[in-house]
Amino acid sequence: MVKHILDTPVEYLKGIGPARAEMLRKEIGVRTFGDLLLYYPFRYVDRSKFYTVGEINSDAAWVQLKGRITAIQTLGSGRVSRLVMTFRDSSGETELVFFQGLKWIREKVQVGREYIVFGKPNLFQGKYNFTHPDIEPAEEEIQVQQEPLQPYYSTSEKLKSRGFTPKNFVRIMRTLLSQVYQAIPETLSPQVMRQAKLTSRADALFNIHFPRDPHSLAKAQERIKFDELFFIQLQLLRLKYIRMEKVKSRSFVKIGVFFNSFYHNNLPFELTNAQKKVIREIRADLGSGKQMNRLLQGDVGSGKTLVALMSMLIALDNDCQACLMAPTEILASQHFKTISRMLQGLSVEVALLTGSTRKALRADLHTRLQDGRLQILIGTHALIEEQVQFKNLGLVVIDEQHRFGVAQRARLWEKSTIPPHVLVMTATPIPRTLAMTLYGDLDVSVIDELPPGRKPVKTYHFYEKDRLKVFRFMKDQIGQGRQIYVVYPIINESDKLELQDLMDGMDTVSRYFPLPEYQISIVHGQLKAAEKESEMKRFLEKKTQIMVATTVIEVGVDVPNASVMVIENAERFGLSQLHQLRGRVGRGADQSHCILMSSYKLTTDGRKRLETMVRTTDGFEIAEVDLHLRGPGDLQGTQQSGLVGLKLASLVKDEKLLRLARELAYRTLDEDPGLEKPENLPMVKHLQSSEFDWGKIS
Ligand code: ADP
Ligand code: MG
Repeated sequence: MVKHILDTPVEYLKGIGPARAEMLRKEIGVRTFGDLLLYYPFRYVDRSKFYTVGEINSDAAWVQLKGRITAIQTLGSGRVSRLVMTFRDSSGETELVFFQGLKWIREKVQVGREYIVFGKPNLFQGKYNFTHPDIEPAEEEIQVQQEPLQPYYSTSEKLKSRGFTPKNFVRIMRTLLSQVYQAIPETLSPQVMRQAKLTSRADALFNIHFPRDPHSLAKAQERIKFDELFFIQLQLLRLKYIRMEKVKSRSFVKIGVFFNSFYHNNLPFELTNAQKKVIREIRADLGSGKQMNRLLQGDVGSGKTLVALMSMLIALDNDCQACLMAPTEILASQHFKTISRMLQGLSVEVALLTGSTRKALRADLHTRLQDGRLQILIGTHALIEEQVQFKNLGLVVIDEQHRFGVAQRARLWEKSTIPPHVLVMTATPIPRTLAMTLYGDLDVSVIDELPPGRKPVKTYHFYEKDRLKVFRFMKDQIGQGRQIYVVYPIINESDKLELQDLMDGMDTVSRYFPLPEYQISIVHGQLKAAEKESEMKRFLEKKTQIMVATTVIEVGVDVPNASVMVIENAERFGLSQLHQLRGRVGRGADQSHCILMSSYKLTTDGRKRLETMVRTTDGFEIAEVDLHLRGPGDLQGTQQSGLVGLKLASLVKDEKLLRLARELAYRTLDEDPGLEKPENLPMVKHLQSSEFDWGKIS
């Protein structure tokens, strides 16, 4: 097959060569002409206009200055050294500060010479300075283009030192486009282009680099964003179609003795309407003959475990095995205990398999799994190990999905010749746009109702000065027989400094809550599994009143009598984590409280997070705020999802375009499920091309 020109290695582009090509690969992951074409400008600037130092009065805009370097100093030493240049024009002086590439910058710049400086001002100690601005000798800038929308490419000091200055990037892109423009393939069908009113791809790629005017730029951005969103949707929906058409799964038509006797004899309470609705949806899926792939979203405490269990019992009624995978050992063993207890009196064989299950036990477990005696297996990642073979796996339940990658989900499928049904449960409410993309291939069920009698957790934000008040409140609650969590933010469980925070906190707490009247548990990541377990157990059995812990308790732990959650340094937690932590309380009938302790210094985002927590307990609302504050790239689960492949499109800002893309992907597949019509060929080709790197997603 003749290679497409876009697959040509960048070293063959005029002015690049092998050494610089290697640098491009390392620094920005660009290997081919095609990759370079997708290295979009990160902003457009008007470089015909100059400012003076005296005019700078905000750090909002990028500015261009002309003046002389009057002094250069290297301050500090070793890894913390920096280069500081004094820059002067007719109106005053400012500083240009560099932390990287000091050597080559120092060599490039001469005191006394005139330069053009371009960058974004920072306010530092009451004065504006520039860190890592672009700096070019003024005489070389004579041919500055007069176009108001000049592309500006982000680059690094390393790249600059090898000639990839923003200005040179512009040159390289011109050369590239002149060579490849004619050969840029169209990727959409004429119908989709017409329905979405899009410009051609070639036109869009030209204008994204060299926009004729603001309108062409907007059209170019719209087209490129659409492509990014559309092809993810097309691929996800195609998987779904293929599964619906081709993948037959077992049809669980029977509702038998396991389900029924559990329902009539063992159910400890009336199901909520939301639980009933979801179980009906799952039953319909399981009986359809097609493979179920369902995402079950339900806020913390909404009763997902019960739904999981009842679904597993349907599998058992149809002579199949089921498994439940949880992200941590604590959670897996809690599930094991809860489920074993709920199944008392029914003859169901349940076992627990985690990393710390002993060898001898494992061998027995493997045998019982293979001959089918073992009906429900609960565990951690250990479940996806190769040695774990089922006789007849019919249903896989995955709890707290955001901790597992899509790939791990797929490996569980392979545990059975006939693909098992899959139920994915998450307590992290996911904003709709993200769900459409992350889980676009799944059907979604939502438990939107908490079991009756729950009172929403009351949330307060306090500072250190309120510490005694908080302690008095804790004492009062303990006096009423309640238990309390005190949680510290520990990002890295093996970091001694961070652990020290927790130990100091523990000291303070134990001074105010002394033995023997008060007993305290402590749980953190440095403890052995058995120690953690026994500390948790003491708390669970009410032998201790306070549990000082890190976020290891975040997921799933259920102690209904615990009604106060104190979160230290709450500003350091992300919103979804705060919400998860708060979900540990409010599980019993008593009024629960969440106390967010923070330092006085808060960032705007930090303040917004705490305010949101105080204002609402609605997980979906919190998730929306989180998405707006952080952008989807940082949300859990997105790293493996291919969303990192979104260069221009934003799940926050481009919701409308995403909906349109999904709608048109649906329509395309409805009319042509196999994408076999000639007009759809461009899309098939694009999906197969290296540019659309589906590997990143699945
Ligand atoms: P999550 O959805 O967070 O996994 P769980 O399944 O752990 O929630 O349930 C939280 C608590 O609510 C448990 O103690 C469980 O026994 C209880 N629960 C579940 N369903 C109901 C119900 N329908 N009525 C009353 N309590 C329930
Ligand atoms: Mg749970």
